[in-house]
Amino acid sequence: MAEIINKLHQRVDSLKDELVDLTCRLIAIPTTNPPGENYTECAQFIGTWLKARGFEIEYVRGVDTPGDSDKYPRTNVIARREGKTPGQCVHFNSHIDVVVAGKGWTVDPFAGIIKNGKIYGRGACDMKGGLAASMIAVEAFLATVPDYAGAIEISGTVDEETGGYGGVAYLAQKGYFSKPRVDHVIIPEPLNKDRICLGHRGGWWGEIETKGRIAHGSMPFLGDSAIRHMGAVMSKFEDELYPALANKKTDMPVVPDGAKQSTLNINSIHGGEDENFDGLPAACVADSCRMIFDRRFLIEESMTEVKAEITSILDGLTAQREGFVYSIKDINEIYPTMTNKDADVSKALAKGIKEVLGTDPDYVISPGSYDQKHISRLGHLDNCVAYGPGILDLAHQPDEYVGIDDMVESTKVMASALHYLLSP
Ligand SMILES: [Zn+2]
Repeated sequence: MAEIINKLHQRVDSLKDELVDLTCRLIAIPTTNPPGENYTECAQFIGTWLKARGFEIEYVRGVDTPGDSDKYPRTNVIARREGKTPGQCVHFNSHIDVVVAGKGWTVDPFAGIIKNGKIYGRGACDMKGGLAASMIAVEAFLATVPDYAGAIEISGTVDEETGGYGGVAYLAQKGYFSKPRVDHVIIPEPLNKDRICLGHRGGWWGEIETKGRIAHGSMPFLGDSAIRHMGAVMSKFEDELYPALANKKTDMPVVPDGAKQSTLNINSIHGGEDENFDGLPAACVADSCRMIFDRRFLIEESMTEVKAEITSILDGLTAQREGFVYSIKDINEIYPTMTNKDADVSKALAKGIKEVLGTDPDYVISPGSYDQKHISRLGHLDNCVAYGPGILDLAHQPDEYVGIDDMVESTKVMASALHYLLSP
């Protein structure tokens, strides 16, 4: 056993240059989302690379999903390679989209610049470095354990940064992330090489609108201000909701510590005169005010309770406050998910981390969600974790990078995990 592990890790070391080159080439395909540029080119690059290593390749377009068009097709790639004997299937899923480069870069964000042992570029850390690590882990495993049991899959999927509807959600609905096809999923998101991310908190995005009555701004008493009604909502949130959320505690190992409670972000508020008006504002009382909120919650809370907490405040105001009329609508619902740390996929990665880094892993829960939500809810698959190189704080920042040694070590951990899950 130990001998195979040594061989696997030596093989990864010998593929270091290929790992770096692959990461740079993935960064050089600017898959900026929105709008979803160059997805087909990136999917085909991955598909071609894996086809040369014996994988069957399928391209699946997320037809009619948000943003999908002939100009910006939501092209996903799914690759599968059967082993010599029947067994379980390990699937590595990475999103191929990256967020906009933005300002503040000191290097070209799409050149794949190597400096001081780091690869710089948009997506280096989130998550083309992780994708490349999983591809090289598989390559090392195929060379070392050619007669493996079961199957290996690698997918490159779109739109994670905008909810994953044209990517993992679309595929999960079609059975790509369910048993019996797949048994274990590893998502190489940048959670650090010594951490296994078991899942994420839940989320509820919604929009509240308070209504008013328009009147001349010099005689506001003749109208009814929707903005003042929204102010009343805000006061209730400050006085009642925020303290209640801060008191909720969880057994989920959420990082950072501040996210170990329930949270609410008010994403935007808008009322009255349109934001894009030119010239001087007209004197009017606001007849509408809209708030978009982002409520993140814990596995101990239910979606129904979370919604009731906010609607009961609004219903209370309807009863207490003259003229208070509101409507509320859902924008997005995300259910919390947490894979058991004793699941085979977590145990296999934990053993790999111990071998490579000499420490036990930290088990963490992400404050925000990622594609695991679709795998658990639509694919009904519990054996899914995130594990990959890179520092999460660097994601979406200017001068994003991934450390080459970190990538090599993570690749070894992934290769070890493949061995524990698939060796006959
Ligand atoms: Zn990501």
